[in-house]
Amino acid sequence: MPAVPAVSAAKPSPAQQAMRKLGLVRDIDLALHLPLRYEDETRITLLKNAREGDSVQIEATVTACEVQQRPRRMLKVTVDDGSASCVLTFFSFYASQPKAMAVGTRWRIRGEVKGGFWGRQMQHPSYKAAGGELPQALTPIYPVAAGLPQAYVRRAIATALRRVSLPETLPPDAQPPIANYWNENGLQPLPSLREALLFLHNPTPDVALSALEDHSHPAWQRLKAEELLAQQLSQYQARQARARLQAPVLQVPASQAEQPSLVEQLRAALPFALTPAQERVCREIAADMARPQPMHRLLQGDVGSGKTVVAALSAMVCIAAGWQCALMAPTEILAEQHFGKLVGWLEPILAPLGKQVAWLAGAQKKKERAAMLELVASGQAALVVGTHAVIQEQVQFHNLALAVIDEQHRFGVAQRLALRSKLAHAGLEPHLLMMSATPIPRTLAMSYYADLDVSVIDALPPGRTPIVTRVLPDSRKDELIARLAAQLAQGRQVYWVCPLIEESETLDLSNATATHAELSAALPGVLVGLLHSRMSAAEKKAVMQMFASGQMGLLVATTVIEVGVDVPNASLMVIEHAERFGLSQLHQLRGRVGRGAVASACVLLYSVGDSGKLSDSGKERLRAMAETNDGFEIARRDLEIRGPGEFLGARQSGTAMLRFADLDQDGVLLEWAQELAPRMLTHYPRQAQQHIERWLGSKAEYLKA
Ligand code: ADP
Ligand code: MG
Repeated sequence: MPAVPAVSAAKPSPAQQAMRKLGLVRDIDLALHLPLRYEDETRITLLKNAREGDSVQIEATVTACEVQQRPRRMLKVTVDDGSASCVLTFFSFYASQPKAMAVGTRWRIRGEVKGGFWGRQMQHPSYKAAGGELPQALTPIYPVAAGLPQAYVRRAIATALRRVSLPETLPPDAQPPIANYWNENGLQPLPSLREALLFLHNPTPDVALSALEDHSHPAWQRLKAEELLAQQLSQYQARQARARLQAPVLQVPASQAEQPSLVEQLRAALPFALTPAQERVCREIAADMARPQPMHRLLQGDVGSGKTVVAALSAMVCIAAGWQCALMAPTEILAEQHFGKLVGWLEPILAPLGKQVAWLAGAQKKKERAAMLELVASGQAALVVGTHAVIQEQVQFHNLALAVIDEQHRFGVAQRLALRSKLAHAGLEPHLLMMSATPIPRTLAMSYYADLDVSVIDALPPGRTPIVTRVLPDSRKDELIARLAAQLAQGRQVYWVCPLIEESETLDLSNATATHAELSAALPGVLVGLLHSRMSAAEKKAVMQMFASGQMGLLVATTVIEVGVDVPNASLMVIEHAERFGLSQLHQLRGRVGRGAVASACVLLYSVGDSGKLSDSGKERLRAMAETNDGFEIARRDLEIRGPGEFLGARQSGTAMLRFADLDQDGVLLEWAQELAPRMLTHYPRQAQQHIERWLGSKAEYLKA
């Protein structure tokens, strides 16, 4: 497809560069660059019929024109169209303008009519000489960038629309669900993509603008259906590509009466019985790993739902089958906790077999690290736990078959890919289990993770008491501290979370160090600890140990404790400047309490700052936290507040996002696309490819990562 405008050897003009930046390269890109809104220049309205607030076009004669100096310098032009008069005001104007708009001249003027004490007014209307033909279609207003004139984009798009070839890619038996619609001429088929695009770029004036604005118009439906289909196709393609890969078959040898399997031994050693939800996800994971294709599964479960033990049992399946497993966590603290737990659970069973659990982290001593690498390479380490140090180049696995990634959203795509390449062993791919406490709403999961199987732990372990959440202004901090003192005296433990570790000049954030000093002074007799990201791993470890053992009553921390930390006796959490945290982050933090049987509470302290009030989204986040403890509900509201782009983070942000479809509104179309995509790949592979190319172009590869 030729690029627009034609590429010449000369340096691209600023407008061309701006177009490229917007991704407007191919004809199809331009054809899919749809107007933000429209202006109706197809008719002339009589002033007397224009209501206040209407944007109208009038034709009128100037009856007065003067430059006023007070209260501000401005040009005031009074016009009359025979039905009524209107005052046009211009605060900035060319020197020649008063002369041009002399009394008696006629103009075609477009702007918003304002009422008011002094009669009708328009501020800074656009105007041109009266007369001339009226356009037949609404005038599109396109999204543009700096240095890119509206008229330039309009011309480029018009050219592209004439040139672009848009063969039908949908199979004849696969029309979108709203294939027909009614208009005044009776039942109509849904427009083709070409018809839809031509219409949306230049709609006829009889169309209801609301149907264009809310994207309910059949032309929009066609577009959204095609976009969703493209996305589903690329996801299914990725899934098919994965299905062609080979992975080790991980099957646990059956238990014998006198010799239960390693997995059975681990179950027997656990201090609790698995919940039915945990049992179910363990079965789902085991079934995946018993197949010769690599598993690609996301394990979702709210904070505290007990994902770690599922990871441990999955690791044991892998080990029992004679292979190695790696478990990676995003922070050293979290990895350390996992390590401690897994050593406790697994080593009594592994030790008699001459196997053990290895530890790999960035802050390790050279000698210790070398020893660990040796264990990993020889296969003596059946399980390797650590941070992303696990995927560094020097790490050679003996026969790695399963990788577990905790809090997967913390890892970038690059790291996940690196992990996969690590595991490649004799042409085999690893099984991949990702765990996340950030639930993905169903429509989003359907839309973006068609290439991912999802297991959900949908119930918390028994005996938990719900966390009570209170929202307090920070003016009541002293009162709060007094109440904490009473709670601490009863042996309860408290987390106190601050947003940043250092005072910054621009942002007045609590300083964790200052808070630590303040709380130590206010709570005599209580051991108050401090944990922040600038501390060394050894310091962090020492502090965590004191807190976990119950010695330390209160732990002041920055968000380093956000993920995964598990201290069941801690039942109170205070989050300072809660208005500055994201909703899912708040939920994660809150999940650190409510892990034991005692009633737990979370206090969200907010500060209104200089503006004297909270932002709307800040208010919404705090309200959501106070209203629900349910991670799925939180995720739904988070999506509502932030939109899917931010919600999903870097991977799906920007260009890879859906541009037209709205997952909340277009569930029907999404289901249609989801059903059609695999069928189309099988029976109409050429059209499927063409469709993906059209919509995703070079982005298709990126979407698969
Ligand atoms: P998360 O899903 O947030 O990673 P964890 O795996 O840290 O949750 O589990 C939270 C706590 O619940 C831990 O103390 C864990 O030992 C405990 N736990 C997990 N499963 C059960 C269960 N079936 N019964 C009782 N306690 C459990
Ligand atoms: Mg966890």
